[in-house]
Amino acid sequence: MEPITRGDLQEDRYSRFRLIPWWDQSKIASCRLLVVGAGALGNEILKNAALLGFRKVIVVDLDRIDESNLSRTVLYRTEDIGKFKADVAAGAYCKIASDAVVRPLVDNVVHGCGLGIFEWSDVIIAGLDNREARLWINRSAWKVNRPWFDGAIEGINGVARVFVPGVPPCYECTLGEVDWALLEKRMSCNLLALEANDDGKTPTTPTISSVIAGIQVQEAVKMIHGLATLSGKGYIFEGLNHSSYTVEYTENPDCMSHYTVPDIVHLTASSRDLTLANLLQRARADTGSDDVVLEFSRDVIQKLVCPSCGSEQETYAPAGSIRLQEAACPRDGHLRTVVSIHGYSGEEDFGHRHLDQLGLPLLDLFLARSSHREIGYIPYGDAPQVLGPLAMEANPA
Ligand SMILES: [Zn+2]
Ligand SMILES: [Zn+2]
Repeated sequence: MEPITRGDLQEDRYSRFRLIPWWDQSKIASCRLLVVGAGALGNEILKNAALLGFRKVIVVDLDRIDESNLSRTVLYRTEDIGKFKADVAAGAYCKIASDAVVRPLVDNVVHGCGLGIFEWSDVIIAGLDNREARLWINRSAWKVNRPWFDGAIEGINGVARVFVPGVPPCYECTLGEVDWALLEKRMSCNLLALEANDDGKTPTTPTISSVIAGIQVQEAVKMIHGLATLSGKGYIFEGLNHSSYTVEYTENPDCMSHYTVPDIVHLTASSRDLTLANLLQRARADTGSDDVVLEFSRDVIQKLVCPSCGSEQETYAPAGSIRLQEAACPRDGHLRTVVSIHGYSGEEDFGHRHLDQLGLPLLDLFLARSSHREIGYIPYGDAPQVLGPLAMEANPA
């Protein structure tokens, strides 16, 4: 195998890794890594990835750095307060690994990231603090068939888990009644987001994030090398009693996450060039059937309708991106009714809309479903705008 590193300096940098018999630096260097979250866990994940020589990285985080982050984030400095975590993390990454290309995405992973971002990656490592985002990553990872490495920390305890699509149990299988109750607390029954809760204010330390992120990234390195991992299991670490053990989860036969799109097609067009009607036409041709429905990756709130005065407001925003307070009628204060859409069959009146006018993120996946075939379409003309220089490193579809 050809080392893909440059010159003696790089040879030297990774020389200690090469002493590990199964180690293959080129596998790490060519791996496309998606890191979701750039907080306490995310910083340690990124630090490890940079030191190990991961060179193609996307980092997603919506938040800005505040002073309370600085005790647990090795990549941030006092002068970074107020800046976006994803931007600063990407810059710091390249200071450790100068030959890496790191694309920061300042966005909410649930509402703002197209499934094409997941599909771009080989490996997804998450440093998150809430179940909603984990559930979204789990379902998205299954759809595009990518493994993901979860971590969770509280106090000086934590857990690292590995979920591989097609090999349940998955993250959703592990959720119990309490988890579902907490998940539902975040979302009202009509797809509106409720008042922000205390997510992100979990007590954590840099020591436990270091332990758990270390396991997460190490498991990813093992998987890249074809070694057995914690797939479908969790590694629990209890700092107070120095105990650690592996837990096995049970598959839930009714789990909603267990779906992988059988065929994914990269369209050359971008979202602004294609209407829903255009895409449906393409899907009809590809499936050889007129009986095709296009399914969106997530529900879209098409409009808000006031039950009192009858006024309507078109929104075209993803479910959960509009807060309950914003749904009040500006004329009379009544809570407006949400009209949501989740696909297009050719009958609806919004077929003339371009794919970028639906409230869905760029580089998203549209699933065409006929009675005998399913094809996922990703408008890959969006890739330069979303992935930047990493668009050239796209997975061939
Ligand atoms: Zn499952
Ligand atoms: Zn009204």
